[in-house]
Amino acid sequence: MDTFRFIKARDVSHAVQEASRSTTAQQGAEIRFVAGGTTLLDLMKLEVERPSQVIDINHLPLGNVEKLPDGRLKIGALVRNFDLAHHAIVQSEYSVLSQALLAGASAQLRNMATTAGNLLQRTRCVYFRNTALACNKREPGSGCSAIDGDNRTLAILGTSSSCIATNPSDMNVALTALEATIHIQNKKGERSIPIDDFFAVPGSTPQHENVLEPGDLITYVTLPASRPGTKSVYLKLRDRASYEFALASAAVVADVVDSKFNRVRIALGGVGTKPWRSREAEQALEGRAVGQSVFREAAAAALHGARPHSENGFKIELARRCLAYALTLATTAA
Ligand code: SF4
Repeated sequence: MDTFRFIKARDVSHAVQEASRSTTAQQGAEIRFVAGGTTLLDLMKLEVERPSQVIDINHLPLGNVEKLPDGRLKIGALVRNFDLAHHAIVQSEYSVLSQALLAGASAQLRNMATTAGNLLQRTRCVYFRNTALACNKREPGSGCSAIDGDNRTLAILGTSSSCIATNPSDMNVALTALEATIHIQNKKGERSIPIDDFFAVPGSTPQHENVLEPGDLITYVTLPASRPGTKSVYLKLRDRASYEFALASAAVVADVVDSKFNRVRIALGGVGTKPWRSREAEQALEGRAVGQSVFREAAAAALHGARPHSENGFKIELARRCLAYALTLATTAA
C-alpha cells in the first residue's frame, strides 16, 4: 500500500474544504473520504485505489435517521447499514430497503458499512481488482478483460464495449425503486440529485460511476413520504444463501387498488451496470390487473434490451423469473 496523508474532519465544512484540494478529473482519485472503510481499505491494499490523502469523516454529525415535517425520511450519510435495516420506520414503511440491506454482505460488514459508502460501493469484477490485468474502469484505455473473459456475474443491461461491470449493491436497488434523492455538499454549496440520475452507465468512460465531482461529500439521502397501503419486496438470487452478491435481484414498490396496479416502481440488481430502474416494466403493470401473465409480460419488458456475453446469458431468464416472483410476493404480502 502507498503512503498517504490521513486527517480527521472536524465538521462538514472542514471535510469539504480538505476534499476540494483534489484536482483530478477522475472523481476523487487523489482524495478519498473514509467512514466504515469496507470497500476503500480492501482496494487500497490491492493498490486499485491509491489516494494521496484520506479524510476520516466518522465524527461528522451525519448518523441520524429522521422523519421530516413533509413526511420524507432523511437518512444521514453515516448511518450504518445494520442500524438502517433495523430502524422502526424503515422496517414498517420502507420494508424493501430493510430487506435489501439484510440481504447484503455479512453481519460484521453491515455493522461497519454506511449509507454513503454503500452508494459508492465499487464493482466486484475480478479484473478491476487485479492490477496485472487490463481494465478500462481502473486504468482508462487499457481494455476490458471481462468481455472475452470471466463474465458470468457481470451485466447484461447498460453495458458498453468499454465495460460490462455490475453495480454490486443491494441497497442501491431498493433506493432506486423508492426514488431516493442524494444530497451532496461541496465548498460551493449543496445540491440534490435523484438516484436514477446519480449513477452513470459506463459508455466510453467507465471510470466515472456517478456524477460526483472532486470535493463532493454525500451528506444524506431522502426518501419520499411513504404511501399508505404500498407493499414492497426485495428478492435476491445468488449462488449461495449469504455473503454473496446478486446474480439477479428485484425491488418492487407497489400500490395495488382493487386488484389493479395503481402505481408501481421496479428496479433490478445484479444485471445492470447501475441499479436498473425499469420504466418498461412499470408501464407494463400500471393500470393492469394483478396476475401471473401480467407479471411475465412486465418481466419480459424489463429484460427486452438485455445484451448477454459469453457466460452470462442465463441471467436474462433468471432476472425475468426473479422479477415475476418478486411481483407475486409483493401482491400477496399481508
Ligand atoms: Fe474493468 Fe469493467 Fe471490463 Fe471489468 S467489465 S474488466 S471493471 S472495464
